[in-house]
Amino acid sequence: MNAVFDRPGDCCGCTACRHVCPVQAITMKVDDEGFQYPDIDQGLCIDCRACKEVCAFQRPRPSAPPSPQPSVFAVQHGDEAVRAASTSGGMFTALSDLVLGRGGVVFGAAFDQHLNVVHLEAATPAERDRLRGSKYVQSDLSDSFPRIAALLKSGREVLFSGTPCQTAGLAAFLEGQDRAGLLLCDIVCHGTPSPLIWREHLTNLERSHRSRAVAYQCRAKDRGWHGHLEKVTFEDGRSDCRSRASQSYKDLFYAHLMLRPACHECRYTSFQRTSDLTIADFWGIERTLADFDDNRGTSLVLVNTPKGQAAFEAVQGQLRTRVSTTKDCLQPQLQHPSRPAPLRARFWQDYHARGYRFVLDHYAGLSPMRRLRRAAGLGLQSLGLLKLVKKLLGRG
Ligand SMILES: Cc1cc2nc3c(=O)[nH]c(=O)nc-3n(C[C@H](O)[C@H](O)[C@H](O)COP(=O)(O)OP(=O)(O)OC[C@H]3O[C@@H](n4cnc5c(N)ncnc54)[C@H](O)[C@@H]3O)c2cc1C
Ligand code: SF4
Ligand code: SF4
Ligand code: SF4
Repeated sequence: MNAVFDRPGDCCGCTACRHVCPVQAITMKVDDEGFQYPDIDQGLCIDCRACKEVCAFQRPRPSAPPSPQPSVFAVQHGDEAVRAASTSGGMFTALSDLVLGRGGVVFGAAFDQHLNVVHLEAATPAERDRLRGSKYVQSDLSDSFPRIAALLKSGREVLFSGTPCQTAGLAAFLEGQDRAGLLLCDIVCHGTPSPLIWREHLTNLERSHRSRAVAYQCRAKDRGWHGHLEKVTFEDGRSDCRSRASQSYKDLFYAHLMLRPACHECRYTSFQRTSDLTIADFWGIERTLADFDDNRGTSLVLVNTPKGQAAFEAVQGQLRTRVSTTKDCLQPQLQHPSRPAPLRARFWQDYHARGYRFVLDHYAGLSPMRRLRRAAGLGLQSLGLLKLVKKLLGRG
């Protein structure tokens, strides 16, 4: 044996193989796009294949008939302060309060002191608050999986929240172990961007503001939930959600230039979920439940299993809820993986050869000349003249 996976698209970086290896032959190594992949020390490997067998991402897709469709709800937390601090309607806080209130432990993605995104463990509401909010960066799971296994063995209840590939990886890692105390909650997932480009983005903002970034909201609600506003706060007390540079990270995110390669082959873009509950933004609610949408955030909640149903019923008293349907909550990430940008390979070549400023100017449209050209193009388009001008310039 010489590898756990053949191509980057086969590995979502869940760490299950690393932790299952009986001789600790696997370490997670960062590649030149900033993503972690398992790497085997051939001198230690005893070729037992446990790492291959545990890999949920490479298992054949089930050919069995689909499991029952989930129950679908639109959800708003009853406490407006919770909703304001959450990305959508605050469902994660309700679920985590439930588990914390029963003496359990909650795992989720947080910013560390350098604004790296890491999975952390919380045993109190104050610790849990760090897990709130979407971070559009692949999180470092570190030793979460064996820690969860130990907590479950000791009889503690655990809520694990993460991307669907992380919850599927954890479920595979725990196969054969008593999972009665584990509640799995995944998100509807667009894809996770590169930690390397995230670091470049922060460094670029810190340079231009001459101050260290100490807090970041990937989706600040200052102008409502329907928009997508990034907000960075610096050590000197200033914050920025206005400059073009402060809003550029989401351009690269939505352009699909820096998502993990596996995200373009994601197995978890349907109503067949591996978690007890799925939480997401209820996009499109302004069309299907317009009177419920106040632009302060509504969670889409899919209840996938009886255990998920019991947890949902236990928190329902804290929530405003509306029943919905799989048809009315459909969004692209419940139908197919995010498609890779045609320029993805070129983006990374340019980044390595010419640096972050160059790709920012050329792929997030930040250079003044590009902005001018784009504005001129839009102006001509609205006058119906763009095709004519392109023809005259020989580009039509
Ligand atoms: C990378 C990413 C892509 C997403 N894509 C979509 C999408 O396409 N469509 C959609 O409807 N919703 C998407 N979401 C989910 C959505 O943004 C909200 O996280 C979700 O609606 C929960 O909001 P909340 O108000 O209940 O909880 P919040 O308090 O906002 O809780 C956020 C939860 O997400 C988890 N989380 C945050 N960042 C990460 C991360 N980097 N990796 C793993 N888990 C994380 C936390 O552990 C926490 O449990 C995405 C989230 C992330 C992190
Ligand atoms: S997806 Fe997880 S288990 Fe599979 S190779 Fe990657 S890190 Fe290992
Ligand atoms: S084959 Fe077995 S020993 Fe070798 S890396 Fe995989 S799990 Fe470890
Ligand atoms: S898109 Fe799929 S592979 Fe990528 S992080 Fe999300 S769940 Fe994992």
